[in-house]
Amino acid sequence: MTEQANPTTELLTVRYPLRLDFGPIYEQERKAFIEAEEVDEVRQAEAAQLIWAEIAKYPPELFENIGIKTIRALQDIKSEGNTGYGFHLAGTLSPNIYLSVVYKGMFNSVELPPTFHHELSHGADVNNYLTDNWVSFNPNGINSYVGPNGLRGLNHFARGPKGFIYNRNTINVPEDRALVVETMMVKPFWFQQLCTEDPIIASKVAKCKLNFLTRSNGRMDDEYWQDLEGGKVDCGYWFR
Ligand SMILES: [Zn+2]
Repeated sequence: MTEQANPTTELLTVRYPLRLDFGPIYEQERKAFIEAEEVDEVRQAEAAQLIWAEIAKYPPELFENIGIKTIRALQDIKSEGNTGYGFHLAGTLSPNIYLSVVYKGMFNSVELPPTFHHELSHGADVNNYLTDNWVSFNPNGINSYVGPNGLRGLNHFARGPKGFIYNRNTINVPEDRALVVETMMVKPFWFQQLCTEDPIIASKVAKCKLNFLTRSNGRMDDEYWQDLEGGKVDCGYWFR
């Protein structure tokens, strides 16, 4: 990077067991049918600020516990030909999270933060699965989920049925959980409101908080959630 690194970002790169990797697609990724372009240097610098600000919402211990080691930040990433804001793959690439910093030619600043938290949830589900009673929260248990083809013709991001934030939450359990997590991490006021309106969503949020408490060695406690909701979690939060 030509631009001088922000000192806060520099501190984080030392404190976290993580690598933010803008490098070109490597052989192992090509073999897993991943394609992507590299992001230009100016956008790399902007994206690094944005991504580190989201990483900093979690303590370093969380990444160790869920086995995520690398954040791959690229342009228009495709997995088996499908473009998306981001994804996480099981198998040999499971320590990686993939983010489209540039999506269809545009710097993806709006979707980048929620996508990061979303894919992190998928990564945690794959690498550090915690047995839970998630489906028992739903009015119809596991039958509440319609599968990836069950939403044809429906707007995925319209408000969902009782217990689900969006229609998209009804695809399956990991997708439901990932959408709850991204909402908790980037829209704290809205998720508070959702919990008040819908006790099922509130139970799912409480379960996600419990998972985070376990995976962060107790650091993401009630005080942390209050601080996040109060906008007090900045890049130095875990190191004071
Ligand atoms: Zn997902």
